[in-house]
Amino acid sequence: MERGNCLYLVVPCYNEQEVLPETSKRLCEKMNNLMAQGKIAKNSKILFVNDGSKDKTWEMIERLHEENPIFQGLKLSRNRGHQNALLGGLMTAKNYADMVISLDADLQDDIDAIDQFVEKYHAGCEIVYGVRSARKTDTFFKKFTAEGFYKLLNLMGAEIVFNHADYRLMSRRALDEMEQYKEVNLFLRGIVPMLGFQTDVVLYERHERLAGESKYPLKKMLALAIDGITSLSIKPIRMIVLLGMLIFVCSIAMLAYSLVQHFLGNTSIGWTSLIVSIWAIGGLQLLAIGVIGEYIGKIYLETKARPKYIIEKELR
Ligand code: UDP
Ligand code: MG
Repeated sequence: MERGNCLYLVVPCYNEQEVLPETSKRLCEKMNNLMAQGKIAKNSKILFVNDGSKDKTWEMIERLHEENPIFQGLKLSRNRGHQNALLGGLMTAKNYADMVISLDADLQDDIDAIDQFVEKYHAGCEIVYGVRSARKTDTFFKKFTAEGFYKLLNLMGAEIVFNHADYRLMSRRALDEMEQYKEVNLFLRGIVPMLGFQTDVVLYERHERLAGESKYPLKKMLALAIDGITSLSIKPIRMIVLLGMLIFVCSIAMLAYSLVQHFLGNTSIGWTSLIVSIWAIGGLQLLAIGVIGEYIGKIYLETKARPKYIIEKELR
């Protein structure tokens, strides 16, 4: 089945005035190249999403749009963070495009991978993940924290693609389905794999930022990690239940131990009852909190009203 090939690039921008001139130039070249080769439609566009920047970013986007209609702009009412800016861009782009690629404004992600993204789309993929093959230019700290981030998320029960950030292609089909995920705390990297469909991976090398500095300091990364874990899984609540059970079992062992000590006469009066109750009550409390948490977790997942399944194809 032949699918349309109108491509939209979605680029969230937060205070990116230093990189925009270079980024827009390179992306425009790339798009013209692809158009000349007939790989994408002539009406393909580059959509910059201004995430409430405090600098000249929006003015620059407006100017770019006037100079060349390949550049489109979307302005959020205020800074809502990378994930929300990206989502706003994706949901806007899907109204016009057949496939959408999201990428950062600093072009750390190799734009030559776009050719492969498009090829895989034509080979039938609905989602193509860009995966970093190496992090040569990242500092040790960034590499360590970023890779720790993926491991922690996986450990906590969030299924995400290792070393894949938000550089990916999604077809209109996949985006339409993603719109069904009504949750407010949207963690895209966790939701996209939930969609299923035919997917593939493109490896690329991550470069250094073109200019300016990272808008993802440790604080924002931590917030993203916590959001990722808590919006995808209730595993942390399960861990409280387990801990409570463990302590409760310990308290029974302690009961036996203290009774033995008590009858051997090795204890002062009151110690036995005190120590047993401390352990038992502590364990029971944690267990109880965990059980309540389980229910809150269920309510929490219910309120998200996620679709339970997505039908990919129907044979009739
Ligand atoms: N960004 C955004 N809103 C924010 C923070 C970042 O739209 O509140 C954008 C930013 O402009 C960039 C992308 O998210 O296009 C990734 O940010 P950055 O390159 O600073 O992150 P890093 O690569 O250092 O992890
Ligand atoms: Mg970056």
